[in-house]
Amino acid sequence: MSEQSRRLATRLRAVRRLCGPAIVFAFVLAVTLAATPVPARAVTPRSGPRVSTMLPEPASGPQPASVAVTALLAAPKPGTGLWYWPVGTETFGGWSGWLDSRGSYYHIAQDMPASVGHAVWAIGDGVVWKARSDAGGYGPGGSLGGVMIIVHTTATGQQFRALYGHISGLRYKEGQTVAAGAVIAKVNGCAHLHFSIHPGTVYRDGNMYAGHVPKSWSDHGGFVDPVKFLKTHPRLIPYVPPPVPWTTIPTTTAPEDYGAAAGAAYWTEEGLAGSATFRFDLASGTRSMLTADEVPPPFDVARYPALLLPSPQLGFKVGDRLPVIIASARHDTPVWGAAGRLTGVLSSAAGRRFGGGRVRLERDSAAGWVRVAAAPTTSAGRVVFAYVPPRHTTLRMVFLPPSTQPAARTYLTTTSVSVSLTPHVRLTVPVIPSVVRRGHTVAVTGFVTPRHASGSTCMSLMFQRLEDGAWITASPRALVCHDNGVRSSYRRLVRFATPGSWRVRAVHTADGAHARTSSRWRAFSVR
Ligand SMILES: [Zn+2]
Repeated sequence: MSEQSRRLATRLRAVRRLCGPAIVFAFVLAVTLAATPVPARAVTPRSGPRVSTMLPEPASGPQPASVAVTALLAAPKPGTGLWYWPVGTETFGGWSGWLDSRGSYYHIAQDMPASVGHAVWAIGDGVVWKARSDAGGYGPGGSLGGVMIIVHTTATGQQFRALYGHISGLRYKEGQTVAAGAVIAKVNGCAHLHFSIHPGTVYRDGNMYAGHVPKSWSDHGGFVDPVKFLKTHPRLIPYVPPPVPWTTIPTTTAPEDYGAAAGAAYWTEEGLAGSATFRFDLASGTRSMLTADEVPPPFDVARYPALLLPSPQLGFKVGDRLPVIIASARHDTPVWGAAGRLTGVLSSAAGRRFGGGRVRLERDSAAGWVRVAAAPTTSAGRVVFAYVPPRHTTLRMVFLPPSTQPAARTYLTTTSVSVSLTPHVRLTVPVIPSVVRRGHTVAVTGFVTPRHASGSTCMSLMFQRLEDGAWITASPRALVCHDNGVRSSYRRLVRFATPGSWRVRAVHTADGAHARTSSRWRAFSVR
């Protein structure tokens, strides 16, 4: 036993208020298996140290109410970050949390109160890395108890390890996959779950079961605040493609040479008058007969799977495996350097939306399309990107189908409609005296930062006058934009014949490189 372990064991004996009978576990700081980056591969049952830096945890805070039997079975709805929170709540009032002090140790987990026997749910899909019922310190009073470590994945593809401690009745073994929200175990006699997150693959002392780490470890052994982590790293939503939409095409006799291409199905029927070839428009549903000179195009079997209807029906059905991305962007980025929001909706050709479909944002460049970002779609098929255009930029969204899919649910890749974003000219609010004398010449001044390629009369001042409660636009006054790529000033002399309440703003009209943009209004009166 090392000196450090001896000190720790002494500490343990000193702990009096425990979550159960005070059985003090003799402690050995184990240094064994370094964590492997790939969890499911070559898993040895009961691998890893049997003991851990897990101090006995007192039951603190309000005691949880006893749970109904149904709570053991039904997974709660996902909470913040779309995670299933391990005992169904995101509030842990009074219970030991991240970096709570325990002598010379920090608690590197969140204790989640739950009555003995309460279900513990997997926060997301994952692979069980460690599952054992004899880990030191995880039973009542610091005795041996159950712990499970599951490798989960965030929406951005980051893998991390979640530790579920003080459990019993473990339902999964090492190497098994776990579905989001599945019951993995129940809370043991400690009446709370000890839940921690380690985003790395290397454990500082080789002890993946650590519940507390020395305060001298500034990196907290690689553990992070589990609640904050879940709330800031959303869950990966599994890709669930909608069923391929099928169009049924009844025929008069058994169809021959049937298939589809470019939005239309074709087939040949043998009738009393000889053979005839038909065309069926998949969008409109209209059918027509081809003339003797017309030949159907080669069938696109990749996009349009075709199947004969089961006997005794006559006809066939055609699927359409093309997903569509409908992309849009707010074209008027407010100021130079601000991000434009690009929104995409991923759906099948029949309009069914894909959740968890991966969409890549690409930028047009001299070298071709360049990846900018990628993100999965929400359950409503939506994806949102923020992009700061350095210049007039054409972007597109690309659907990335998963590499392995059951054939009937396979969708093909496609590109979206392109979206253009244009950085804007920055305009200040024009300066004009708050009171202007009618008939007198006055100067309107301001600043413009054009940042575009060629100079022109590209700006104007828009004046409006209040008349019967409505703003009436007077003819705009053009301004020359000094296009040297730096902030420059303008000065325009104007004269007003009509007294009243007026306002003015600077407007940069749309041109080849810019969308229209405006400054805020400046109010003044003419007397
Ligand atoms: Zn704890």
